[in-house]
Amino acid sequence: MPLKVALLPGDGIGPEVTAEAARLLTRVADLYGHPVQFSSHAIGGEAIERHGRPLPEETLAACLDADAVLLGAVGHPRYEGRPPAERPEAGLLALRQALGGFANLRPALCHPSLVDRTPFRADRVQGADILIVRELLGGLYFGEPRGFSSPDTAFNTLVYSRSEVERIARVAFDLARGRRRRVASADKANVLETSRLWRTVVTEVARDYPDVALEHVYIDTCAMRLATAPASFDVILADNLFGDILSDQAASVAGSLGVLPSASIGGQVDLYEPVHGSAPDIAGQGLANPIGAIASAAMLLRLTGGRPHEADVLERAIETALAAGARTRDLAAPGERILSTREMGEAIEHALVDIHDHQHAYHAV
Ligand code: NAD
Repeated sequence: MPLKVALLPGDGIGPEVTAEAARLLTRVADLYGHPVQFSSHAIGGEAIERHGRPLPEETLAACLDADAVLLGAVGHPRYEGRPPAERPEAGLLALRQALGGFANLRPALCHPSLVDRTPFRADRVQGADILIVRELLGGLYFGEPRGFSSPDTAFNTLVYSRSEVERIARVAFDLARGRRRRVASADKANVLETSRLWRTVVTEVARDYPDVALEHVYIDTCAMRLATAPASFDVILADNLFGDILSDQAASVAGSLGVLPSASIGGQVDLYEPVHGSAPDIAGQGLANPIGAIASAAMLLRLTGGRPHEADVLERAIETALAAGARTRDLAAPGERILSTREMGEAIEHALVDIHDHQHAYHAV
């Protein structure tokens, strides 16, 4: 059965980076004989121009019918004056809600060849390979009641149920099993009741995973440790608010916004997207780094496609191309040759074919 992927290129650099991600997915499919079937649909500003709304029904129906959605980015300054519901971002928010993913995964990896692009000292950041697992549909961002009780007083509600905590904790522990088998659960249990429930439930879930080491970390300590010893973490589990902040902080180990992938899973259909936005300042110039989109495609192969070997090979191809000196403008040091978006995609494709051929030759001996 082919893997059905709904491609939503979106706005700005979205079409440029998703074209490279689709190229790599197609190449992986050809090399390993596991087909991928694409369909492409409008979202965001592009959809407003063509269909009058940021998430056309046709797009949503195609996404719900797919195995996974791979999105580029949405947004353009031209829509900034419009009411929220008529802006490109409304399309993405509605899509995320309709697909229903409650687990947001944000890996942050320090590629060995990009250490000097990070704000860290090499000995502090070397080896950092963090996965933030953030609860996405509950907590402070959705709790009711919320609002203004007077023009001078506002309030929000932080609420979590046992089942919400349990399901996100299981995602974190399951993923830790495929990594270094460590989960750090971030909370504020010394102050917040919701955190005390969080801690109790996470501890209970951990009993089903005796092979995974659990530590509870206060959110403030966690932020400090991310800034001083990022390589000391494997999986970090956090609620919606804390996870939002920690995932941006953890991203600093990667060296560029352009290399960061993400996934939102656990709902009806899984959604994969690079972390960056539509970058209107560089759109259409071939300057965008496609690695965030390509690494999102690797997550898609692993988590939705059930093709972990192919995901590993694609991630190794990214690493190999970087180690060989492939650099888009955001990664290049002064004097280094700058590749276009397409050339970076091609460099990763060449590395992929080399890795595949090498493995094939090895097996043939
Ligand atoms: P941005 O991520 O688009 O850009 C921030 C900076 O990073 C810019 O200087 C940009 O050139 C650079 N950058 C981003 N991606 C890059 C890549 N792949 N390669 C090289 N450089 C890259 O954030 P912004 O400027 O705050 O927002 C621009 C638009 O994107 C806004 O309309 C915003 O609402 C939207 N946005 C969308 C998403 C999304 O679709 N998920 C996320 C964030 C922002």
